[in-house]
Amino acid sequence: MLTDIEIAQSVELKPIKEIGEKLGLLEEELEFYGRYKAKISDKAMSRLKDRRDGKLILVTAINPTPAGEGKTTTTAGLGQAMAKIGKNAIIALREPSLGPVFGIKGGAAGGGYAQVLPMEDINLHFTGDMHAITSANNLCCAMLDNHLQQGNPLGIDPRRILIKRCLDMNDRALRNVIVGLGGKINGVPREDNFIITVASEVMAILCLAKDTVDLKERLGNILIAYDYEGKPVYARDIKAQGAMAALLRDAINPNLVQTIEGTPAIMHGGPFANIAHGCNSVRATRLALKLADYCITEAGFGSDLGAEKFMDIKCRMAGLAPDCVVVVATVRALKYNGGVPKAELSTENVEALKKGIVNLKAHVENMHKFGVPVVVAINRFGTDTDAELGVIDSCCRELGVSYALSEVFGKGGEGGMELAKTVCDVIDCKKSKFAPIYPDDAPVEEKINDIASKIYGAAGVAFTNQANKSLKEIKALGGDKMPVCIAKTQYSLSDDPTLLGRPTGFTVTIRDLKLSSGAGFVVAYAGDIMTMPGLPKVPAAEKIDVDDNAVIHGLF
Ligand code: ADP
Ligand code: MG
Repeated sequence: MLTDIEIAQSVELKPIKEIGEKLGLLEEELEFYGRYKAKISDKAMSRLKDRRDGKLILVTAINPTPAGEGKTTTTAGLGQAMAKIGKNAIIALREPSLGPVFGIKGGAAGGGYAQVLPMEDINLHFTGDMHAITSANNLCCAMLDNHLQQGNPLGIDPRRILIKRCLDMNDRALRNVIVGLGGKINGVPREDNFIITVASEVMAILCLAKDTVDLKERLGNILIAYDYEGKPVYARDIKAQGAMAALLRDAINPNLVQTIEGTPAIMHGGPFANIAHGCNSVRATRLALKLADYCITEAGFGSDLGAEKFMDIKCRMAGLAPDCVVVVATVRALKYNGGVPKAELSTENVEALKKGIVNLKAHVENMHKFGVPVVVAINRFGTDTDAELGVIDSCCRELGVSYALSEVFGKGGEGGMELAKTVCDVIDCKKSKFAPIYPDDAPVEEKINDIASKIYGAAGVAFTNQANKSLKEIKALGGDKMPVCIAKTQYSLSDDPTLLGRPTGFTVTIRDLKLSSGAGFVVAYAGDIMTMPGLPKVPAAEKIDVDDNAVIHGLF
């Protein structure tokens, strides 16, 4: 079997102009970044704003193994398969961060014969959105430190600065730093931190902003610090929002690329799915809905994190409503949820699978709670046995949920036709009655309680003293009006990564809360969330290379 990059490099790409034409985009609506990438300008949305929206399909998953369960692969493959059954579909995905590319996980443009191309570009610098976001965030930090240097007229408390510098790199040595050393002309010394760019609030804002006006307002609303009296200081107070938005002028426009089979794909924005909402930009999804009859999109991690936030944060804010949810399940992840260690996932183990299948049930039932029809996609791996696949089959029958085996990794669109037909049938026959899981105006604690009890299956929620203190401050700043973004482990429905399957009777502990006032949500921390990952002992970067012909090798 060829590697992902070998498969990607064996494909002859269509000029992106042709992909745009196929979508009915005019040449003046495309800004070309070479032959195979383009940004779609605002002119397209203005021209198409009254067109009827296509159907919105969200791809999510059960609780994964540490290797990822194939949501992006399934999203790309389902898009390819839609074309094979004669449907007009488009894909909307997040753009990858360099951190995972050089760390453990590798690329994020799908896998096997279900990939978005050019994968080398997408996984490396792409169209520069990450750099623009990094610069916009760090401009605000530079202006803030300069404010301290120039006499600090706002009385900003250097011990209570909330905005952190960022970098699109896994670099643990920068997690905690001291800046401003070296005497009077070199700044005011203070403790600072770096986070990875995708964890920055600027990234979340870019993904939620409707347009430049909205972008600027949200950037201005970032709570950057408190003053010596404990009053909030926002980015607008140091007049940073205009220049930040100027740096994001191009980054705010969605990027157009294509799959291995020439299916149009928009990749735009990529916030974390724990401390942020974990899906591509609102602008990309909205535009995609205007450009095709079916828009297939992905939300990060399992449905307890990604899909819940997609519905409760993104759909609520943007007025979107999914028509169908595809829950990706794998034999491997179900065995993992049944207690099989990572190293033994390739060996048949029907008993463990039967034990772990409760996890799939929980995710399917949860998605139904949002009133959206569900299809289970079984992402087939080479090591899956018929006996194992049979267990998932009978579980889906028992649940009365539609399902299909997906072989898009090995076979491309061809291997996803059954899935595509099932999704289209479900959309035709079952009407989505989408509603978020909690009301807009419930107090923050109640929103957290709703998510924990209805989605995680928790018996209760506990707040630490620190969390109660932050909650009071956040409420005073208007937090009750905002949706909640819970940051917790992706490996369990609970806040404890070792509780696999479908845990019950547990209490979710909220350790702290943070206001992302520009993005417009309250982050509730149910665990230690790494906002600046480190590299593993053998980073993927060691295998990545470029040859004399400028061809990249070793990306996966
Ligand atoms: P997610 O989006 O859920 O994190 P990805 O689609 O990125 O998952 O897939 C994670 C990894 O697993 C990728 O390296 C991908 O190539 C690989 N993968 C996905 N599906 C399969 C499959 N059916 N067989 C083998 N490898 C797969
Ligand atoms: Mg993915």
